[in-house]
Amino acid sequence: MLRLFLFIFTLSSLYSAQIENFRWEDGVTYSDFLEKNNLPRKPLLDTLDTDDERLVQEIRAGVNCNYLKDSNGTIEQVLIPLNDELQIHIYKSKDSYAFEAIPIVSETKTDAFSLKIQTNPSVDIKNETGSINLVSIFATAFGSSLDFTALRKGDNLVMIYDQKYRMGKPFSMPTLKAAMVEINKKPHFIYLNDDGRYYDAKGTQVESFLLARPVKGGRISSRFSKRRFHPILRKWKAHLGMDYAARRGTPVVAAGSGTIVHAGWLGSYGKLIKIRHKDSYETRYAHLKSFRRGIKRGKRVKKGQTIGYVGTTGRSTGPHLHFELRKKGVAINPAKRVQLTTKKLRNKEKEAFIKLSKNYNESINLHLKNETKFEKEQTLSPVCYFNNDFQKEECVAEQNPQNNKS
Ligand SMILES: [Zn+2]
Repeated sequence: MLRLFLFIFTLSSLYSAQIENFRWEDGVTYSDFLEKNNLPRKPLLDTLDTDDERLVQEIRAGVNCNYLKDSNGTIEQVLIPLNDELQIHIYKSKDSYAFEAIPIVSETKTDAFSLKIQTNPSVDIKNETGSINLVSIFATAFGSSLDFTALRKGDNLVMIYDQKYRMGKPFSMPTLKAAMVEINKKPHFIYLNDDGRYYDAKGTQVESFLLARPVKGGRISSRFSKRRFHPILRKWKAHLGMDYAARRGTPVVAAGSGTIVHAGWLGSYGKLIKIRHKDSYETRYAHLKSFRRGIKRGKRVKKGQTIGYVGTTGRSTGPHLHFELRKKGVAINPAKRVQLTTKKLRNKEKEAFIKLSKNYNESINLHLKNETKFEKEQTLSPVCYFNNDFQKEECVAEQNPQNNKS
């Protein structure tokens, strides 16, 4: 059985082994990667089961990966993150290699900074932090609720957010907890409430990306998970969408307006439709029986319009719709975005929210007063993966600058 231990890493454990970081290049397939590194396709690719094969297709360009090499430069282990919770682990085993999916060990820290507007929020956040992810969460949270054209130089901005760290490095999308931006010295606030939605200071929901249920009368039969342990197969898997059980032939509708970018067969998805929406969102509808007449690549569709019919094509055990929501290619939980109306908080919910927002306001004021700067280098205790059954260590490179190639 897989046992994963987490312990604080000490430099002494790195004597013989060496860690190299690398970025997954654009356009590189998993198969290319194996070939380039002289890693055997069997058992690392050709004999994978369909679940693991699917995981391999989730590898995204730009993701930071790690090698563990011995003193001769031979690869002992490879770690390839798939999302912020699950990673592929390749490791030496006897004369060959083995493949598994394992959880990512990460730490989450609440970070904050304040800045004075020079140009506009996007440019200034980028200049201050160097992070387009921070620009993105700010812009997404406020959506189109504010008119930034009235901004004046010297207006203040504060962001409080959660950042995950893997091996001491920030990774994955940060989560905005609260933000304040002045427009001509008038402050505007946004807060992430306990229900996972953003509200303004009055308790009115701000988010505007609406998504209807993509299949009428469908019952949710499997929820989204970035990782879950299958007790019978004894392995880690992911389900990067929502399944709606429905009768064969039930109409499937576009969850939002957009452009069809794919309508055809795609591997285990079977007959699949992909729709591109604004703000780099994409929805996917899989295992369809058939497409509606006229639905093809390049066609524009409206929210609620029928695009196809429930079926069981591809790798599917029975008629259902497998529905995915992605942002910039990253699968996100549709349940967190599906909303039929914009919500206004009342009574008990409102009381709890007022308390929460007061706490955030205190922090925001403190960051304003202290002019909290963005911290580029985070010195967190690095974490180490120790897989008891096989190899020994694989760890952080940040402490060993000569190994840090990324
Ligand atoms: Zn599914």
